[in-house]
Amino acid sequence: MLYLLQEIPLPTEGYLVILLVILAICLISFLGFENWYSSYYDKPLYRNFLVYKKLAPSQIALLKTEFPFYNSLTKELQGQFQHRVATFIKNKEFVARESLEITQENKTLIAAMACKLSFGRKNYTYTIMDYILVYPGVFYSNTNDAHHKGEFNPRQKSLVLSWEDFEKGYRIGNDNYNLGLHEFMHAMHLEAKVGRDIDSARFMKHFNLILQRLADEDLKKTLDETRFFRAYAFTNQYEFMAVLTEYYFESPKELKELFPEVYQHINAMLNLGFVFNLEKRSSRSIETEK
Ligand SMILES: [Zn+2]
Repeated sequence: MLYLLQEIPLPTEGYLVILLVILAICLISFLGFENWYSSYYDKPLYRNFLVYKKLAPSQIALLKTEFPFYNSLTKELQGQFQHRVATFIKNKEFVARESLEITQENKTLIAAMACKLSFGRKNYTYTIMDYILVYPGVFYSNTNDAHHKGEFNPRQKSLVLSWEDFEKGYRIGNDNYNLGLHEFMHAMHLEAKVGRDIDSARFMKHFNLILQRLADEDLKKTLDETRFFRAYAFTNQYEFMAVLTEYYFESPKELKELFPEVYQHINAMLNLGFVFNLEKRSSRSIETEK
């Protein structure tokens, strides 16, 4: 009986090969279409594939009281945000330094800050980073023998934060200092330099356009006259992007008025237009952030 069965050719094998070829062609076509769409429309075709993870009630309560960005989202976007924060916490290893003990609160707020910055992206988990080291306050760094509030170390795939300064950064929402956003932008920037994904491509496109704008004589004059950005922004290109990010979130109205093109580029780079109603965004509304 077994012998007879082996004699009969199995057509399913042939069908299987054809099916696999069709699937491969579909996948390649879809990826090609996705790439074309994101470069043509300057945003991802879709940001989420599946949204199913939920945060614990205590984490949601924390976001509601300490993280106004969460409250500003629609129910649907809150669901996406929860999924992303939960995924981020699961993907990263949080390491306590010195006397600090990592709590659920530390993890939730750090992950929320990371996900706020990457909320407009499809690629939101900062694949360039595996560890988040948290010190209670400023820490000594071997990189330049100095005390730091934060740093991103790409070789060790580590983001290092002073919790005291991270907390100050998200509690005071209108002083243009936000350590979390600053350091996560460094990581996002370095990832974009080597990344081949659609979000990295959009990042580098708008980063280069921002650099072109900065070379403009009229813009340089406005920078000199207004001294809008703190001096540290001009340390190098990476610091400029990190500081610009802090201003984008904390002084959007002024940034948009003084440097409209730069504002549009960072807004497109982060793809956050669908969250922030540009016309309604003002320093006043941001001031309500704790
Ligand atoms: Zn920096």
